[in-house]
Amino acid sequence: MSARILVVDDLEANRRLLEAKLTADYYDVLMAQRGEEAVQLAKREKPDLILLDVMMPGGIDGYEACRRLKAQPETRHIPVIILTTLDDRTEKLRGLQAGAEEFLTKPINDVQLLARVKSLLALKVVIDELRAREANGKRLGVIGEELRADPLEQHRVVSGNVLVVDDNASQIKRIQAALGVEHRVSVLNGEAATAPPDLAVVSVTAKSFDGFRVIARMRSGEPTRHLPILAVVDADDHKRALRALELGAHDIISRPIDEDEIVARARTLMRRKRYIDALRSRLDHSIELAITDQLTNLYNRRFLDAQLTPLVQRAQCGGEPVALMAVDIDFFKRCNDTYGHDVGDAVLREFAVRLASNVRPSDFACRLGGEEFVVLMPRTGGDIACMAAERLRRHICSAPFSAQGAPHPIEITVSIGVACTDGAEDTPEALLKRADEALYEAKRSGRNRVIGRAAGRAA
Ligand SMILES: [Mg+2]
Repeated sequence: MSARILVVDDLEANRRLLEAKLTADYYDVLMAQRGEEAVQLAKREKPDLILLDVMMPGGIDGYEACRRLKAQPETRHIPVIILTTLDDRTEKLRGLQAGAEEFLTKPINDVQLLARVKSLLALKVVIDELRAREANGKRLGVIGEELRADPLEQHRVVSGNVLVVDDNASQIKRIQAALGVEHRVSVLNGEAATAPPDLAVVSVTAKSFDGFRVIARMRSGEPTRHLPILAVVDADDHKRALRALELGAHDIISRPIDEDEIVARARTLMRRKRYIDALRSRLDHSIELAITDQLTNLYNRRFLDAQLTPLVQRAQCGGEPVALMAVDIDFFKRCNDTYGHDVGDAVLREFAVRLASNVRPSDFACRLGGEEFVVLMPRTGGDIACMAAERLRRHICSAPFSAQGAPHPIEITVSIGVACTDGAEDTPEALLKRADEALYEAKRSGRNRVIGRAAGRAA
């Protein structure tokens, strides 16, 4: 997977070294030498990952740059790896507390660098996909404005369920003491949990079970697939650390466990999980599924309602009018009764194709259910809408339907009621009601016809 990585370091030699390592692995590299420049560049270029040096004389340091990156909505979701020459506990904690996802010590171990980069990029792909789908939902009006608040901001302080998988009693005690302040901690000895927690701390140095197997099983099991995993490894055991990351652990921590460090790492992992969960739950089913009628692939009622309200409001405030066609297949019940429901469904699908291919690209063809359809026509007055409806009516009865499974082609006709917005008092409900009344009148006066209705009273 290729990606763009922003490298920030005040020393040219360091920048060139990282650039060489990363381009050798086919990543695109952007470079900055000062903190302020990095923040601006990240905002403009939206890299997929940032490698950030801590010590940068003249201007803000790496911690401050990280805080600023994590404070603005445009760059908050971009993972940051802090780089420092000091393998020092306080430095490490400062980096994590500034919101950095990871921390690497110079001279940088190539294998570890690339493992971290890969692991963070894999996560970002998930976040990007969810963000894109959410943006799409907002554009289509399916996700409302009130949901725009950034979930990463909303969930800055989070508490959750932590599952500890370990067999070392004193280590378990240490983890419980550190994480028990903010989270509910439970302990398990070697088997994957049944109820999905928010974070798992898994020891890969345990004697009584294989921690790698636990990680692999959690990663592949459906309820735990998205669970963040923090692997506990021996200090300087790069081989096992890499193995844990490769198997799907999101982060590693060295023994003996530093309590402040595990608190900071748990916070970052938990916050990220909540962020992804929040995005996911908003997109419960995909947007497409939410707004599409499954039988015909036309838009559904939910989509119509989401579109209609703002359009009518705009028309009320002196904007352009909105027209609606209420469309109903004549004697559809008889068709169902005579040929069966499978043929009925085939007729509906064929009808939908004719309907969709007969409206303008700016119109929305929706199925409300059964044989009831609505065409929403933005920026359209009643006269134009009636002409369009008449064209549609003729198109439907011009040739019989070749409905799959039917013994012979079936003659289908359609009745259409048309209504258009009128005046500052109009509402989506009133508009739909007028279109329905016009449709009823078309049915009553013999079917296979179009009736137009102005606001308030019959035209
Ligand atoms: Mg430096």
